[in-house]
Amino acid sequence: MTHDIPHMTAMVCHGPGQSLHTETRPVPTPRPGELLVEVLACGVCRTDLHVVDGDIPASYPIIPGHEIVGRIIALGQGYDDFALGTRVGIPWLGHACGTCSYCREGRENLCDHPEFTGATRDGGYATHAVADARFCFPIPDGLGDLEAAPLLCAGLIGWRAYRMAGEGARIGLYGFGAAAHILAQLAIAQGREIYAFTSPGDTAAQAFAHQLGCTWAGSSTQPPPELLDAAILFAPVGSLVPAALKAVRKGGRVVCAGIHMSDIPQFPYADLWGEREIVSVANLTREDGTSFLRPDVAGRVKSHVVPFPLAKANEALARLREGKIEGAAVLIP
Ligand SMILES: [Zn+2]
Ligand SMILES: [Zn+2]
Repeated sequence: MTHDIPHMTAMVCHGPGQSLHTETRPVPTPRPGELLVEVLACGVCRTDLHVVDGDIPASYPIIPGHEIVGRIIALGQGYDDFALGTRVGIPWLGHACGTCSYCREGRENLCDHPEFTGATRDGGYATHAVADARFCFPIPDGLGDLEAAPLLCAGLIGWRAYRMAGEGARIGLYGFGAAAHILAQLAIAQGREIYAFTSPGDTAAQAFAHQLGCTWAGSSTQPPPELLDAAILFAPVGSLVPAALKAVRKGGRVVCAGIHMSDIPQFPYADLWGEREIVSVANLTREDGTSFLRPDVAGRVKSHVVPFPLAKANEALARLREGKIEGAAVLIP
C-alpha cells in the first residue's frame, strides 16, 4: 500500500556548486518537540547561494530555505504551545543547545552546537518541513504568507543589525536588496534618515530606495552628502568595509550583516581612529524574532516580493546572484 504514504516535493542540493534537483520523498514525521508544516511560502536569501556554492558549512544533501511560512499539520509528542492549523515562521536558527556558555548568557545566536535551517537541517524549498517547535514564531495575522516570508531572515537580520547600529539619526545601508528594503521602511517610520548605497550604476535600486523614502541614494563608491552615525553592510563585498568607515563620523559604527564576505582590503589606521568600530552580526536569537515579528513592528512593513513557483528555485537563485531581484524572491509550493 505504498501509494497511501503521503509524499512531499523538495528542491535538493547534493553538494557545493550543484544546482537543485526536484525530488519526491515521504513526508517526515515530527519527532518529540518538533512540528510539521505544510509550506505556504519560502523566501530566497543570499545565504542560500552561499549554501549552494559551499561558502559556508552545510550538510549535503540539503533542502535550502530558512524563511519559511507554514501551517502546522502535525505536532510531535511533548509540545502543545502551538495548535494544529497555526501559521508559523521557521527561521535560520533551527536549534541551539541551551547549555553552552553562549546559550547560558542569552547569546544563543553564538551557540557552540547550533543547527541552521536549510544548511544543517532541511529547510523550506519544499512542500513540507519539520522544525524544532521552540525555535518557531507565530506570524501576525495581518501579514500575508508571501509578505511574511522575507521577514524571517532579511527582516530579522536587518532588525538585529539595526539594533546594533545604535541610536544615531543617519544610517547608511550598503546593498539595497531584501534586507535593506525592509529595514529602510522600519527605520524611516522611526524617524531615522536612510542613505542607500547600491552597486555603481544600479539606478533601478536607487529609484526603489527613493520610492521608499530614503533621504539619499547613490553608488557605494560615492561618499554620502553628510557623515553617517552608522553604516550597515548587507552586500557581501569586503571592500565596502573601508568605504563605510570613511562614511561614518567619529564614534560611528560599521555593522557587517552578511554571513559571508569577500576579503576586506588593507586600509590606513586613520580610517578606524576616532573610536570608529567594525562589528559583525551573527544569526539571530529568539528574542530578535519575538521583538520584531509584532504587529506594530514587522506588521507595518510592506515587503516587496517577486514570487516564483517552487520548481523554479534555480531560476530564483540565478536572478538573485545577478542582482536582478527588486526586493525579495519568494518560492510558492
Ligand atoms: Zn548553545
Ligand atoms: Zn538568510
